[in-house]
Amino acid sequence: MPLKLYNTLTRKKEIFKPIKKNFVGIYVCGPTIYNYVHIGNLRAYTFSDILRRYLKYSRYKIKEVMNLTDVDDKTIKGSQKERVKLKEFTKKYEKSFLEDIKAMNIEMPEVMPRATEHIKEMVAIVKKLLDKGIAYKTQDGIYFSINKFKDYGKLSRIKKKALKAGASKRILKDEYDKKNINDFALWKFYTPEDGDVFWETEIGKGRPGWHIECSAMSMKYLGESFDIHTGGEDLIFPHHENEIAQSESATGKKFVKYWMHNGWLLVDNKKMSKSLGNFYNLRDIIKKNYSPLDFRYFYLTKIYRQRFNFTWRGLEASKKAYSRLKNKISEIKDDKKTNKEYLRKFEKAMNDDLNTPKALQILWKLVRDEKAEGKIQTIKKMDEVLGLNLLKKEKIKLPKKIEELVEKREKYRREKNWKKADELREEIRKHGYGVEDTKEGSKIRKL
Ligand code: AMP
Ligand code: ZN
Repeated sequence: MPLKLYNTLTRKKEIFKPIKKNFVGIYVCGPTIYNYVHIGNLRAYTFSDILRRYLKYSRYKIKEVMNLTDVDDKTIKGSQKERVKLKEFTKKYEKSFLEDIKAMNIEMPEVMPRATEHIKEMVAIVKKLLDKGIAYKTQDGIYFSINKFKDYGKLSRIKKKALKAGASKRILKDEYDKKNINDFALWKFYTPEDGDVFWETEIGKGRPGWHIECSAMSMKYLGESFDIHTGGEDLIFPHHENEIAQSESATGKKFVKYWMHNGWLLVDNKKMSKSLGNFYNLRDIIKKNYSPLDFRYFYLTKIYRQRFNFTWRGLEASKKAYSRLKNKISEIKDDKKTNKEYLRKFEKAMNDDLNTPKALQILWKLVRDEKAEGKIQTIKKMDEVLGLNLLKKEKIKLPKKIEELVEKREKYRREKNWKKADELREEIRKHGYGVEDTKEGSKIRKL
């Protein structure tokens, strides 16, 4: 069974065929670094990481580009509120974002461009659109005329009627909702509210709109046509619709072959978002004694396209399952073989639009299958995709009391006082820890 991916453009699962043989170019809409990312954002990046890892596993060469939105309406407002320079403001959040993705075992993309370092490329596209008569200037900015792009709406499938009604209006704001189908800003002319955030360019003094940033950075690193573009479902309209309009109008070529979108992480059936204030950061989760990988496991139990509610109970269940899984795996001996049958089933699940819940089921079945051969090497292969560090031995942090008991027991063992040592083993067990004596000393694990 070949790899099939759900393409938002066609609303179908399609057989994946990259533009160039064996090479896949992926663009991931990165975070707007005006705040600590929340765990809903991290769902988007866990999804793109699974996609990336599975393509690599399937022997494609990958170039993934994930941008950092370090200039837009929100970052400017944030920096002004804190009375610091834009760069200084965004740097802090960029750093914490990189820490978060590392903690979640999300692989680093090949390129991570910052919007502020690609103004020249943005201006070049805007110029092209002006020359072609698709963009026009007003007092406050340069706008994209959506009536000049006949395919406008092909990704989000917004109604043509609504389009007609709204097309004469213009919108300067970066974000707007589905009811606002308007000409959108490519370039915003300088106003005093922008403070010291502006660029003097051929198209005037000002700053870019959000949408043009992603068109410029994706095409710079991946070419005018590339394979996959991802983001959360909220980006379908207007952000991705506008990216298509700008890019395809400028180049006359198809911009992206496969559009992939992850479903929302919800809280009480509402989208987790910074603006609603119903969000948690990774730090909140860690404070409650969950590890970032408990969290990664939690995401993998869901199909990436489905919306689902975040609950502490759900996370707790994942933490337990993940810990049980690792414990079981730690007891398996490596026979250096590979179990092709299980790997095939795993691939079948992943080939079905990255069905990670099914893939986890197969992993569990393998772990529990007493007759199966080649468990460890097969788990290792699966973990290249799942990224759960399944074979990594955790150094568990023991409570002080247990540490003391273990030390005392080791002393008895050195003195060959087996009776006392056994008593202590029992006492340690009562506290929920198992002791195993090995050549290197005693090994402790949580029961
Ligand atoms: P932003 O920084 O707001 O541009 O968001 C970064 C990424 O996170 C985008 O791909 C969003 O679509 C995605 N995202 C935002 N909120 C959620 C959520 N509640 N669930 C899943 N993805 C989200
Ligand atoms: Zn984007």
